[in-house]
Amino acid sequence: MQRVVATTCPYCGVGCGIRARRRWDGAVEIAGDPDHPANRGRLCSKGTALAETLGLAGRLLHPLWRGRPVGWDRALAIAAAGIRRTLREHGPDSVAFYVSGQLLTEDYYVVNKLCKGFLGTANIDTNSRLCMASSVAGHRRAFGADTVPASYGDLDEAELIVLVGANAAWCHPILFQRIERARAAHPGRRLVVIDPRRTPTADAADLHLPLRSGSDATLFAGLLVHLADAGRIDHGFVERHTTGAAAALAAARAAAPTLEVAAEQCGVEAAALRRFYDWFAESERAMTLYSQGINQSTSGTDKVNAIINCHLLTGRIGKAGAGPLSLTGQPNAMGGREVGGLANQLAAHLEIDNPAHRDLARRFWRAPAMAERAGLKAVEMFDAVADGRIRAIWIMSTNPVVSMPEADRVRAALERCPLVIVSDCMRDTDTARTADLLLPALAWGEKDGTVTNSERRISRQRPFLEPPGEARADWRIVAEVARRLGFADSFAYGSAAEIFREHALLSQFENDGRRDFDIGALAELDADGYDALAPVQWPAPRGRPEGTERLFGDGRFFTPDGRARFVAVTPRPPLHPVTAAFPVILNTGRLRDHWHTMTRSGRSPSLAAHEPEPFVAVNPADTDIADGALVRLASPHGAAVLRLRLSPEQPRGTVFAPMHWGATHASDARIGAVVNAAVDPLSGQPELKHTPVRLERRRTRWQAFLATRRRLGAASLDGVAWAVAVTPYGWRYELYGDERPESWEEWARRVFPEARRATHWLSYEDSGAAAFRYARLVDDQLDACLFVAPDRPAIAREWLVGLFAEASVRALNLRLLAGQPAPGSPDNGKLVCVCRGVGERAIEQAIRRERLDCVEAVGAATGAGVTCGSCRPELALLLRRVQEPVGSD
Ligand code: SF4
Repeated sequence: MQRVVATTCPYCGVGCGIRARRRWDGAVEIAGDPDHPANRGRLCSKGTALAETLGLAGRLLHPLWRGRPVGWDRALAIAAAGIRRTLREHGPDSVAFYVSGQLLTEDYYVVNKLCKGFLGTANIDTNSRLCMASSVAGHRRAFGADTVPASYGDLDEAELIVLVGANAAWCHPILFQRIERARAAHPGRRLVVIDPRRTPTADAADLHLPLRSGSDATLFAGLLVHLADAGRIDHGFVERHTTGAAAALAAARAAAPTLEVAAEQCGVEAAALRRFYDWFAESERAMTLYSQGINQSTSGTDKVNAIINCHLLTGRIGKAGAGPLSLTGQPNAMGGREVGGLANQLAAHLEIDNPAHRDLARRFWRAPAMAERAGLKAVEMFDAVADGRIRAIWIMSTNPVVSMPEADRVRAALERCPLVIVSDCMRDTDTARTADLLLPALAWGEKDGTVTNSERRISRQRPFLEPPGEARADWRIVAEVARRLGFADSFAYGSAAEIFREHALLSQFENDGRRDFDIGALAELDADGYDALAPVQWPAPRGRPEGTERLFGDGRFFTPDGRARFVAVTPRPPLHPVTAAFPVILNTGRLRDHWHTMTRSGRSPSLAAHEPEPFVAVNPADTDIADGALVRLASPHGAAVLRLRLSPEQPRGTVFAPMHWGATHASDARIGAVVNAAVDPLSGQPELKHTPVRLERRRTRWQAFLATRRRLGAASLDGVAWAVAVTPYGWRYELYGDERPESWEEWARRVFPEARRATHWLSYEDSGAAAFRYARLVDDQLDACLFVAPDRPAIAREWLVGLFAEASVRALNLRLLAGQPAPGSPDNGKLVCVCRGVGERAIEQAIRRERLDCVEAVGAATGAGVTCGSCRPELALLLRRVQEPVGSD
């Protein structure tokens, strides 16, 4: 029987609903859930390709203690004994947990309760610290609580949408498409994008302000001044519902006394800035959406408050189509905030610094050892691991050896830590390699619980696959360890539904409406009710099970006096300025089709095809190094080797590198190793968007492209640097090295293990040109190929990868060794549209051939962009690139 399960996407904070269907043959079909309010049936490229990520290859299926399999009983006993011994010998703060926005709320709740209520330490922090901690701190300063006022529905109403530091076209695609649909339906509506880079999102905007990196607070100070001077103060709202407006305005005037000063400091044209300020002033329904470009800064909290100040001054908050909206990166960043996954919060938005709140949680949990103060935030936490203050750390569902700043220090700290426990669904991650104890956790499709998206909407993740091997739910693993630590009664959960009920009960416990997070209406859900829970936005207090779309419409906030607080912001530059030794600013971020450290998205051939190799984007005017060369990006903290991509979209003096590659997908491209660990003093969020670096040519003796049906073992690549991506029929590698083997032919035969069936070899060597080409056919099918050259081999990579699908390539012979198709043969080029498999070259040819002039026409001619729509911004970019030379004739 085929079963359809409604669940939620495990990637970004948009939180799209998914319908997963198990076919009779066990295969899974993924589709958008038309009934889910976040996406109404739509999915982006990542959501669409989820079925490709569900296989068991690479899964951690059994507990491992120092590399050897152990039973669960022994593994749990080791974990409990290690924690108990560390507590006894070094005190509560010698133990820490580093958790993740990938955890479900129920998992998060249980580990936070154990840490803060029973172990007596608040040393639990989450990778969401890297993503939106500045938003949390900004919300708490302005609203008295971590409250997101607006909803996605407001995007349909807004006359003006401002996207700041958010490449939503790639990182929140379904929301971006919603904005685009609203603009198409209402032509007068405007989109302004504020971002140093000309991103695909900026490409679609009515106005792009390419501000100087780090100058956002000045730009919004200037807006505050402009709104005041243009008579746009909502005096009634400001006087009745806020405090601190005069001080905030005075600080803004000091920072940006005139529009011209603001423009000069932000590095944007005054006329363009004036246009934005005027549009904001005249748009009653204005929304400001922001993301990591704001948050990942040493003044991220101030930037958040500079934005909120503008909405408070104009009273544009709590109204349809108006307000600030923080876009969360992860599927359950919000759920983690709800249960106190951050070291400076308690569960249910209770404050750890508030004695009454600590007492409330202590009584509710009957906690024997309540944490008395905030714990260490992520960067501080790994510093404490490094200097030996933390001697036991449990890392859940995250990969800090790739994602943390100064990642080499993080790796070294974990390697020295006496006890590292890692619970994960994947066997081989950079972080798992440092673990003493590896515990197999459930993956998406197997988990049962809830997540909360950027608009406070709680949705169910429901299982549609059986747990493989001995994998267990994270909450169950933590509860078992808690039981062995002597807390059996308080962790006697039998299901995720029980945990959710307790979480809901805590949210309403002694809550008389003064705390924002209240889901008391869900506290009575029985197992069936929990299973059937429809997506709902909190707060949902007792008597309001339908939840709440928008907050602050009544002008009441969660501060002691019920008024929102303006914050006087004095803009600060990034902590580390460029120097002669490190003259360029490194900005890091996400790509369209990769996710975090690629432990999931890296398993999808469709997604990997979009960007199969790590790169750094550089403005052509900033370097004389050729496009496609290898470069070394170095900071005082570490280095990475990346492929140079010349990009006019990149602002001068800055470079951009994606965050995704770790040691499982490239030998030398962990950008986290390069990034500085300077943090915002209030939020503790690292400045991942601004690291002074140096760029230099990475000279090599040789480079190569290799494709094969089997992934190569680490030993085969000894002494060789590499980057690997999965393909539909195997793996593709980019290689380089400083030493040439004596015989490439022998090297190739050693690297490609012997096939049992009929094998046919083709090879060609030009020792004068230092070139070598090799292909191996098994039963006439392409089994492996290798192309070596002094620099990056100029071959048709996508064509070669596609040949692995052919039943016979025997007739190609010399073409195969040339690495190029016959003239006129189809060569798709780099994949642009994942859903329809349409490549860059095919799109460019169609634009030229058929004189296409809009994205819709490209879609009609090629099929690209008509399914999930994630590639539409790139189609627009290709149109512009092809058309520009024509226009300039
Ligand atoms: Fe998943 Fe894409 Fe929706 Fe994000 S926008 S939740 S990645 S389908």
